[in-house]
Amino acid sequence: MTDASLNPTPGLPKSPSFYGFSRGRLADRFGELGVPRYRADQVFSWVYQKRMRDALQMTNLPAALRSQLTSLCDLALPGTPKVFASSDGMTHKFVLDLQDGARVEAVSMRTEKRLTLCVSSQVGCALKCSFCATGLMGLKRNLRAEEIVAQVIAMGDYNDWQDERFNIVFMGMGEPLANLDAVCEAVRILHDERGLNLGARRITVSTSGLVPQIRELAKLDLQVGLAVSLHATTDELRDQLVPVNKRWPIAELLDAAREYGNTVGRRTTLEYTLLGGVNDSMADADRLAKFARALPSKVNLIPYNPVPGLQWKRPTPEAVEAFAQRLYPHAPAVTIRDTKGGDLWAACGQLGGLSPS
Ligand code: SF4
Repeated sequence: MTDASLNPTPGLPKSPSFYGFSRGRLADRFGELGVPRYRADQVFSWVYQKRMRDALQMTNLPAALRSQLTSLCDLALPGTPKVFASSDGMTHKFVLDLQDGARVEAVSMRTEKRLTLCVSSQVGCALKCSFCATGLMGLKRNLRAEEIVAQVIAMGDYNDWQDERFNIVFMGMGEPLANLDAVCEAVRILHDERGLNLGARRITVSTSGLVPQIRELAKLDLQVGLAVSLHATTDELRDQLVPVNKRWPIAELLDAAREYGNTVGRRTTLEYTLLGGVNDSMADADRLAKFARALPSKVNLIPYNPVPGLQWKRPTPEAVEAFAQRLYPHAPAVTIRDTKGGDLWAACGQLGGLSPS
């Protein structure tokens, strides 16, 4: 079959979503139907770079392909998301309704320097970290690559794509490495030079500690950053806070993170949620500094964001400062994360269907 020989096929089942195809896979699909592979490059440019989602307007495609494109791959996105803005207007929470009725949440966070888009990889989460609203939901299902890409597009559309450069963090709902295939396919799509052309250095994938998948990710050579949700400095406490620790304890996790960092040549971010009176002692700070020094890393401290029904408390600002001061001289690159979106139930650990007031 050639470009010009495509024929309408009425009654075919709904075509797969365009947003789940990497350019290589789209070219394969085109190739199977006799459409030259380079047409996939053109369609990618139209959709991701010129923001054109009407196949009939893609003027450099042959008329037959234009009229057939949506039967090869569906260009529709999930419906308009519900958007909630924080009181300072810098943070927005997006709630997307997916085809099967599942809901997924994503968050855009703006600072003076940059825009960061936080995306979800699952509806709910199976890992049940004890301080996390998403964990309370349990796992509903994995997201497909197109549902991850759609979150980015929804947030970009909302901002009218004014930011040429932005960062993406897989730190929304779900454990990204428990949905590795879809996350990696989404990364390839977002990274593609004919797609959003987002540098791998602008993409960070977080994990609560799935060691085999960290090693798997390293082999894929995607060069994305890794963030490890550590949250405790002893296995005894981490077993309680992050139950997956019982399977892969801290030493194994840090070994895998070190190997990952050495393979991709990037520092691992150690995420550390500070829970008042639980993991914010000076002895914790000393152990955390030791961990941080043992691998190429930076430390990100996150004062706990309250979740209704959970007993944990946010430490006082003085306690956060004291912890950070103890770390600074001994650990490389310590930052304290601004609390973004707390008034939206959009901050770290708060995604999970909690409603903004
Ligand atoms: S912190 Fe992350 S891995 Fe843990 S339950 Fe929440 S979403 Fe899942």
